[in-house]
Amino acid sequence: MDKILRIDMGADGGPEIKTEPVGDYAGMGGRGLTSAIVSKEVPPSCHPLGEDNKLVIAPGMLSGSTAAMSGRISVGCKSPLTGGIKEANAGGQPCQMIARLGYAAIVLEGKAKENNLYKVLINKDGVNIEEDNSLCMLGNYDLVDKMKAEYGEKVHCISIGQAGEMKLAGASIAFTDMEQRPTRHAGRGGVGAVMGAKGVKVIVVDDTGCKMREPADPEAFKAANKEFVSGLRKHPVSGEGLPTYGTNVLTNVINEAGAYPTKNFQLGQFGGCEKISGETQAETENARGGEGSATHGCHRGCVIRCSGTFYDKDGNYVTKQPEYETVWAHGGNCGIEDLDAIAQIDRLDDDYGLDTIEMGATIAVAMEGGIAEFGDAEAAINLVKEVGKGSHLGRILGSGAAVTGKVLGVERVPVVKGQAMPAYDPRGIQGIGVTYATSTMGADHTSGYAVGSNIMGVGGKTDALSPEGQAELSRNLQIATAAVDATGMCLFIAFPLLDQPETFQALIDMINAFSGASLTADDVTELGKSILKSERGFNAAAGFTNKDDRLPDYFKKEKLPPHDIVFQVSDEDLDQVHNY
Ligand code: SF4
Repeated sequence: MDKILRIDMGADGGPEIKTEPVGDYAGMGGRGLTSAIVSKEVPPSCHPLGEDNKLVIAPGMLSGSTAAMSGRISVGCKSPLTGGIKEANAGGQPCQMIARLGYAAIVLEGKAKENNLYKVLINKDGVNIEEDNSLCMLGNYDLVDKMKAEYGEKVHCISIGQAGEMKLAGASIAFTDMEQRPTRHAGRGGVGAVMGAKGVKVIVVDDTGCKMREPADPEAFKAANKEFVSGLRKHPVSGEGLPTYGTNVLTNVINEAGAYPTKNFQLGQFGGCEKISGETQAETENARGGEGSATHGCHRGCVIRCSGTFYDKDGNYVTKQPEYETVWAHGGNCGIEDLDAIAQIDRLDDDYGLDTIEMGATIAVAMEGGIAEFGDAEAAINLVKEVGKGSHLGRILGSGAAVTGKVLGVERVPVVKGQAMPAYDPRGIQGIGVTYATSTMGADHTSGYAVGSNIMGVGGKTDALSPEGQAELSRNLQIATAAVDATGMCLFIAFPLLDQPETFQALIDMINAFSGASLTADDVTELGKSILKSERGFNAAAGFTNKDDRLPDYFKKEKLPPHDIVFQVSDEDLDQVHNY
């Protein structure tokens, strides 16, 4: 990964392709690289859909190698949803392929002068970009089929659906999975709208003829990778819970804890939870046959394999196994207890190219605003279809929960910095509330997953209902997460990393054996801090202050049943999170 591919969409005479050495960005990867490029090259005051914003797609430091779990890709830009810096992370096959093709990053910059759509092909012979307006308003599934027919069965795609073309702030970017389906999404923050603004519909990737990236010290790398994998396999979360039930194993756990946001964050427990739990989902999938729920990775090299495939009653493919966040967003948060309806909405989200968390939160806000009844699955499906059609209502919904709340006059809108909260109520899990409030990304559970400590005791137990120690917990997790996001590793490695020092050491050994560096645990911490500082710097220059590091007022006033508790972490504590 010694080069950066830049495509200037606004060049005179049409898009211009440049390949340049990594230069000052050498050694960086994933979120470390996307945030470095955005911080250095994008004016913080620019319009996210304008010519000065850049879309950066970067594999991690270890991507393209045989390191287990290393196929997560980062997408960065100034976010149309939050107005701040964004890194959205996805699985899928293109990450490993881009790394093997030798690119540390793909950067889309400038803005096309005409309103045309383009497709990009990247293979071992180079890069080609072509205008192709026949792709206009295709969903991701049809688009991928068209690209396979055109470029061959081995290609993978990075693409946008209708939502990205319409530049909606809830639009995602799809990455094809191992079966070449567009099911893995860089969902958060409207990154798909930025790709749409650049006029790029799809990047087709073909790594035929490319080799695995070679470690500097192959023997030491192999030994560290072996120890790392064994650590993942022996931890109860990564070795048993996730592979058996997928991420949806959390539905019963979070509901039991009284922190499962129900009907637009009105309640902390959902009566219909059993019907949409991971256990029920796994049972349903296994009963319907197919590939089952226990043995599926979102990219090659994943050994945890938390994913699966969802089939309808007749055994027809519907979508990948919906994740916990998706099942919650379109399930309990909308009062819906029908797994088949949730899977259908997941498929629509993937096809239109929409963030499932933002869309679920938006539909729930719309329900509170009187557009539909909580629990009405058919109405929810029809509302998502409005987005695909591009109707006026659909464009409002596709712009996210904050916009929809304003249009409908809803006070209870669960967003921070304009981005919808995920599947944990911050009153029932106070630590995740600190992360929602203070993350550089807006409300984002993956920025600092305090749920692990607050609920499962991972890395040491903190009381989920107490404000004590939450700021420090979130700070440490946000720092560690930023570093992991730079490696290309799936964040689910954090469970064994936090509980098993030898697994954490194995990861550091693997990075060192691969790169020839001699990093220590302290260096990894410093890497995380430096990423966060650059992101905080960008946001400050874009106009954010500590007043933006807050939850909406109603979380401090409205008690959440069953604990009858409000969010209690003080503003002073929140302001200390990034004090390092
Ligand atoms: S554990 Fe799950 S999310 Fe992580 S890489 Fe594997 S399949 Fe993807």
